[in-house]
Amino acid sequence: MHETGFASNAGQEGVGFYQVTQRDGRRCSVARAYIYDRARPNLQAIADATVLRLTFDGKRASGVEIVRGGRTETLEARAEVVLAAGAFNSPQLLMCSGIGPAAHLQSLGIAVLHDAPEVGQNLIDHVDFTINKRVSSIEPTGFSVRGIARMLPQFVTFIRDGRGMLSSNVAEAGGFLKSRPTLERPDLQLHFCAAIVDDHNRHMHWGHGYSLHVCVLRPHSRGAVTLASADARTAPVIDPRFFSDARDLDLLVDGVKMARRILDAPSLALHGGTELYTHAGQSDAELRRTIAEHADTIYHPVATCRMGGDAGSVVDPQLRVRGVTGLRIVDASVMTTLIGGNTNSPTVMIGERAADLIAASRRDGPTVLKTTQVGAGGMAANAA
Ligand SMILES: Cc1cc2nc3c(=O)[nH]c(=O)nc-3n(C[C@H](O)[C@H](O)[C@H](O)COP(=O)(O)OP(=O)(O)OC[C@H]3O[C@@H](n4cnc5c(N)ncnc54)[C@H](O)[C@@H]3O)c2cc1C
Repeated sequence: MHETGFASNAGQEGVGFYQVTQRDGRRCSVARAYIYDRARPNLQAIADATVLRLTFDGKRASGVEIVRGGRTETLEARAEVVLAAGAFNSPQLLMCSGIGPAAHLQSLGIAVLHDAPEVGQNLIDHVDFTINKRVSSIEPTGFSVRGIARMLPQFVTFIRDGRGMLSSNVAEAGGFLKSRPTLERPDLQLHFCAAIVDDHNRHMHWGHGYSLHVCVLRPHSRGAVTLASADARTAPVIDPRFFSDARDLDLLVDGVKMARRILDAPSLALHGGTELYTHAGQSDAELRRTIAEHADTIYHPVATCRMGGDAGSVVDPQLRVRGVTGLRIVDASVMTTLIGGNTNSPTVMIGERAADLIAASRRDGPTVLKTTQVGAGGMAANAA
């Protein structure tokens, strides 16, 4: 699901339908919109490779070492390397390449090229709790014999016209709420799904229902991405440290109570239903425990390679990695803090801005002959 949030207006508070990044009823990813559907003679996309590390000539980024088809090879950059591996893998690749907290790198036997204590730190994400309601009606999307039978004509409509239930982004509607009326701006976000969504759908349920996600819009907790191994093929250790700041759990408890009032409104209450993990009679302490147990990401990790004007930031305002040359980061990891909304469009905006910066540096500064891309997301910058 890739909805982009509400059309901008001065006041964010309110509810409505989300805008979506779709074409012909299907999700249009950034890779599709910017790379695969826009063939350019000066852009070659390699999708079946994993970047192992960035290579350097002294302190100048010179390319990337990749592995594909079991073979390791080095791609040389003639001008700049643009790293766009996302909030988890961009810090991982920096660290695997010797840029990061010196003691941590040394503990894994990685030679330190540049001691950058904040690489991988400041991880911020939207922690979310989902109220799931199972209902007897088959109106919402779900699994039942009648429900599956109803989907068959929908399947035809979707394939033929790109329309109908199967073109739904599922999280169709939502809202931004203030937990207290005196707040200047909303501190909670809702995503309403016309389906049960339990543990990111790892836990599937027979039957039908709907869910209301409640997330802490401007969290105080900060996590970190560290290395488990010097080999980039091993997943990094991602510790969001949700609720390490107690204010986030307090707010989520209030948010769930507010969301429940919405679900109890006559228009939704007429569908009846029972909550999966929570129920109306729960004490605050019980509700807290359930939320702490089930809350999880709603997929908006940012800020692990924070941009800033200060020496401690990982990238400067031109998105250039401090301490080395010839290397920019262009993805959600450069956000200074988590925006109050969904992160996809802001990341596209970062890519567009980076394209302008790179084009300007080619015009005004050192010549950029070619950029080498990493990954398949947030690629706008690489077309410069
Ligand atoms: C399940 C899910 C649902 C989401 N729903 C929404 C939504 O509805 N609305 C919204 O606004 N946002 C949503 N988001 C968030 C949004 O997708 C991200 O904010 C955005 O994609 C971040 O872009 P990015 O370029 O920073 O990272 P990514 O999009 O993650 O791109 C990084 C790319 O680098 C590649 N990569 C990483 N490491 C390597 C390596 N070593 N070698 C080669 N390639 C590598 C990855 O494969 C990936 O293609 C969702 C995210 C997820 C995971």
